[in-house]
Amino acid sequence: MMRQYELVEKVRAYDPSVDEDALNRAYVFAMKAHGNQKRASGDPYFSHPLEVAGILTNYHLDTASIITALLHDTVEDTEATSQQIAELFGEEIAQLVDGVTKLTQLELQSNRAKQAENFRKLLLAMSRDIRVLLVKLADRLHNMRTIEHMSKPESRRRIAHETMDIYAPLAERIGMHDIKDELEDRAFRELYPDARDSIVRRLEFLRTEGKSIVESVLEELRKLFAEAGMEVDIAGREKSPYSIWRKMQRTQSSVEQLSDIIAFRVIVPSVPECYQALGIVHGRYRVVPGRFKDYISTPKPNGYRSLHTGVLGLAEHRIEIQIRTPEMHDVAERGVAAHWVYKDIGSGPASNAVREESKQYRWLQELLEILENAAAPEDFLAHTRMEMFSDQVFCFSPKGDVYSLPRGSTPIDFAYAVHTDIGDKCVGAKINGRNMPLRTQLQNGDQVEILISRNQTPSPDWEKLVVTGKAKARIRRVLREIEMRQYVDLGRSILDKAFGRIEENLDDETLKPVLREFHAETVDDLFAMLGQGIYTGRDVVRLVHPDKDDSADGRKSGGSLFSLRRRRKLPIEADSKHSVPISGLTPGIAVHLAKCCYPLPGDRIVGIATTGKGVTIHTIDCMTLEAFADSPERWVDVSWDPNADLASEELVSRLNVTLVNEPGALAEMAATIAGAQGNISNLKFTNRTPDFFDMLVDIEVMDAKHLNAIETTLRSHGSVRSVERVRS
Ligand code: MN
Repeated sequence: MMRQYELVEKVRAYDPSVDEDALNRAYVFAMKAHGNQKRASGDPYFSHPLEVAGILTNYHLDTASIITALLHDTVEDTEATSQQIAELFGEEIAQLVDGVTKLTQLELQSNRAKQAENFRKLLLAMSRDIRVLLVKLADRLHNMRTIEHMSKPESRRRIAHETMDIYAPLAERIGMHDIKDELEDRAFRELYPDARDSIVRRLEFLRTEGKSIVESVLEELRKLFAEAGMEVDIAGREKSPYSIWRKMQRTQSSVEQLSDIIAFRVIVPSVPECYQALGIVHGRYRVVPGRFKDYISTPKPNGYRSLHTGVLGLAEHRIEIQIRTPEMHDVAERGVAAHWVYKDIGSGPASNAVREESKQYRWLQELLEILENAAAPEDFLAHTRMEMFSDQVFCFSPKGDVYSLPRGSTPIDFAYAVHTDIGDKCVGAKINGRNMPLRTQLQNGDQVEILISRNQTPSPDWEKLVVTGKAKARIRRVLREIEMRQYVDLGRSILDKAFGRIEENLDDETLKPVLREFHAETVDDLFAMLGQGIYTGRDVVRLVHPDKDDSADGRKSGGSLFSLRRRRKLPIEADSKHSVPISGLTPGIAVHLAKCCYPLPGDRIVGIATTGKGVTIHTIDCMTLEAFADSPERWVDVSWDPNADLASEELVSRLNVTLVNEPGALAEMAATIAGAQGNISNLKFTNRTPDFFDMLVDIEVMDAKHLNAIETTLRSHGSVRSVERVRS
């Protein structure tokens, strides 16, 4: 076990200003707190936090991190409290220890492998101070180094899985490759001992057999660069058994070639020399297609930079080569811990001292500065390359399962993430044990309990409260089903009326033979299309009882569906320059009825001239006219042609109707309109609440008087809350 003075010496070696007193007090405090506790190995428990602190000294961490490592298990496993630590070591250390304790508790809550990615993100998001994560990684590394002392095989497997799924990728994400490699290798040994053994045996064989090859490769490369007058450092590095195994799995191959297990590394002083060295290698040997990667111009997200290439014919083999500077190499090994050391600090007389100091823990100080200056945790995440998580929140179910949701998610999103059925039946939510409104935005670490009721169905209001695609899609689907049922009811009532006019009974059986003509699969499909105004009741009558179809329209079009569908669109476009019954204009001029106010014969109207497009007719009270107030020259006096044959025209008007949401309300409205000789040609819901429907209803009418009569009749019904003609 490391002695107290040994630890202090280790820290002082890279940090002359170390707070020795605090370090000594932490050593004694942790040792006393753990007292007689023992590790599974039989060692005193205190040996564990001490080893963790030792690992962190290799990364030249600041005194606060080393003290945190010493104290990291005291709150969780001993009588010591957070307040005590705050009093003895200050608020900063207390918060760091608190952070590590929280991560440890998280770890115990859930270990479902499929949630590994969420879990990693959660750990990152919860480690507001990256030192917390560094201590946690060192903690896990020491636990893996001593895992063989754990007696229960299932506990060992659980911890190894967690290490593989969660901690090794985390170490990689912040670029600490040596920790990542060791974590992976130790977990691999635990989980697949046979696979690892056989790879290690194969490696040994290739190593002895290939020894001379490695030597000749090194020799050939050295000669090559010497001839070019370049000073380089070259080494061969064996890949880890786990990375070889992964590659074997990926490529479904076996370990055959030396290039599979050894990568050669060329270290040169500067970036231009990296490319120069690459040129020398590529100038001599043939490049393996697809193996060249330039991570210098495009670094990996964790900051890794290097040139990779593969060449043929070096010592008669296929060889992989990585080319980088010493700085890049350090980042590759130590990641975030090395990242800030190599900033350009000039070359003045003082620069050597500054350089020395910067190599200690300047990177950490700068990281802390970013942390302190960040207005919000989001800023911190953005500055430390973890921005990919700043748009997410991580929440728990009462059982401790983790769900990752987009920022802005509500309990309804959470409910749908758990299960569609839970979402559909959600009536309320408890967040961290308190009843909260469903519109509440969830925060990182919230525990969410969804309250459900068997009778609940999604409310139209929910659409505005959710941000996840899954919830949105499901809510829309259910609302659409409800809407379709209403269209079906409406369609049935429309057709009932139409059959009534020709004194026939509506019978589903008689409709079946004509379904194909309407591209409908079921009778309900047909009703729905009628309800939506895709076809009219007359269209169906014409095909089911051709003999009884007496409408002028029917005779004109001879029952052709195609022309009917086109006709139905006509009123919406109001583009009927030949038949608009307007007088007072030069013959031949194009005339359109405005699509904003749907003018009808009997309305007071005015024309607005548009160069090249003719004249558009508006009602005199149309809101759109305001836009032309300053161009009086464009206003044209027009009037309805009293001699026009209005009966043959299809004139459409548009009403904005609000209905009480109750059974039969839609059908009643349709029956009223039909009873007043109006024909619904289109219907569109614009807003739905649990109490009311707002909709736009297009009605074919004869003139303004006709429409007015329909409006008045509608207003007389209890289920109609308001009716307004659309004027803009
Ligand atoms: Mn520990």
